Amino acid sequence: MDSKRLRIAMQKSGRLSQDSQELLKSCGFKINLREDRLIAHVENMPIDILRVRDDDIPGLVMDKVVDLGIVGENVLEETMLERQSQGLATAFKKLKDLDYGGCRLSLAIPREQEWTGVAALQGKKIATTYPHLLKRFLAEQGVTFKPVLLTGSVEVAPRAGLADAICDLVSSGATLEANGLKEVQVIYRSKATLIQADTELYPEKQKLVDRLLPRLEGMLQARE
Ligand code: ATP
Ligand code: ZN
Repeated sequence: MDSKRLRIAMQKSGRLSQDSQELLKSCGFKINLREDRLIAHVENMPIDILRVRDDDIPGLVMDKVVDLGIVGENVLEETMLERQSQGLATAFKKLKDLDYGGCRLSLAIPREQEWTGVAALQGKKIATTYPHLLKRFLAEQGVTFKPVLLTGSVEVAPRAGLADAICDLVSSGATLEANGLKEVQVIYRSKATLIQADTELYPEKQKLVDRLLPRLEGMLQARE
């Protein structure tokens, strides 16, 4: 890969991909995104778009393998805690909070159960994709729990007898509802964010970032 080209990592397919693509396009990027391609070249600027799973984006930025990344703060924060526990680099620069990808990470329990507060979760099994964020929140309340790690279908865990409660991303709450669960406690609020590797960029690349950022800010302001 050409190191003189600015590298931006974004989600290949999922909840952030469409909005991220549109944002970049509105900044003047001419991108030819072919479904099967890992890398897309921006035709009119020295920029490459890396299309990966969202979970990989914070690490790519923290390892300085890409220059910029667009990712949900939930994934960013969870990865940071995970990497801290492994002694890996966690530095990055936050360039801009974006106006999409809004969601909350919440605790939910079976609908028919009475909720008396987080203390009732002491020693319970909680299914989640975000064990570090959950642990940080519950530790602050003096609660310890048994994490059940699932990267998908978290909402079926209580019904399947795998866990007593779940901690999962919610936006409308319809998925919880459909699975007989109720949201009882928000533990983290998230939005998509644009981050940069904590390193000095080639001057050409930095100039490009300095030109792009005001455009991006203009776009975000215009649609406020
Ligand atoms: P990938 O294949 O890239 O790993 P994924 O299944 O982990 O995808 P998505 O479900 O596409 O991820 O969600 C990506 C991000 O979108 C989430 O991490 C979160 O920041 C944001 N998001 C916004 N609303 C929701 C929601 N209702 N549920 C889940 N994520 C949401
Ligand atoms: Zn993911």
